[in-house]
Amino acid sequence: MTDPQIITIPCLTDNYAFLMHDPDNGATACIDVPDAAPIQAVLAERGWTLSDILITHHHWDHIDGVAALVDATGAKVWGCGADAHRLPPLDHALAEGDTFRIGTLRVEVMDVSGHCANHLAFHVPQAHAVFTADSLMALGCGRLFEGTPDQMWESLSKLAALPPETIVYSGHEYTATNARFALTIEPENSALISRSRAIEAARAAGDPTVPSTLADELATNPFLRAADPAIAAHLGLQNATPARVFAEIRARKDSF
Ligand code: ZN
Ligand code: FE
Repeated sequence: MTDPQIITIPCLTDNYAFLMHDPDNGATACIDVPDAAPIQAVLAERGWTLSDILITHHHWDHIDGVAALVDATGAKVWGCGADAHRLPPLDHALAEGDTFRIGTLRVEVMDVSGHCANHLAFHVPQAHAVFTADSLMALGCGRLFEGTPDQMWESLSKLAALPPETIVYSGHEYTATNARFALTIEPENSALISRSRAIEAARAAGDPTVPSTLADELATNPFLRAADPAIAAHLGLQNATPARVFAEIRARKDSF
């Protein structure tokens, strides 16, 4: 088996789309479509034919380009069946625990709701990849528009249980702000301090900070670290549950 290829494509002002290509049979999937044009440009440059579109959630900045990309390529659209009423027309309706294939690559469907209801993540073990959009983000997590802190904590806990070498393809370039916030929660976390420096340097050079590794997120992302007793103590929540600590961190970020 030849290694799958994954390309990160900046779209709109701070969104990311991804192309995942299986060199063994030519299948190519696009994960989220903020805007069709930059994705079509990469397809043309690589000489790839789009076979599938995977939608993580209903927000416009993840689906606005789906219709144009389907028109141009005839790609089949996969998304959450329970959200079909507010998604572009689906060819395949998905739910938590489903598996399907893009070429020879097996995709595992995870419900990671919290940012909104029916938010999916796509785990591709052969690519060591998980596409998380606005659930787990680089040093952050999505705002809770339709879910509760308990629900998002459960979603993040599922993602945290993936192999630590998993590469996290999240939906936005928010990492520099997330790093400044994370340092208010864990000012003495040395892994966070060095990651923050690397993020500042990357952004100064105009480089993306997405994807990241799950191992780095586990070591530095405050939203994944809500079960750490030192963080609970720093927030004055010594005996609180991790979900309660997570809720406090999320609330502080909302007003950061
Ligand atoms: Zn969103
Ligand atoms: Fe978004």
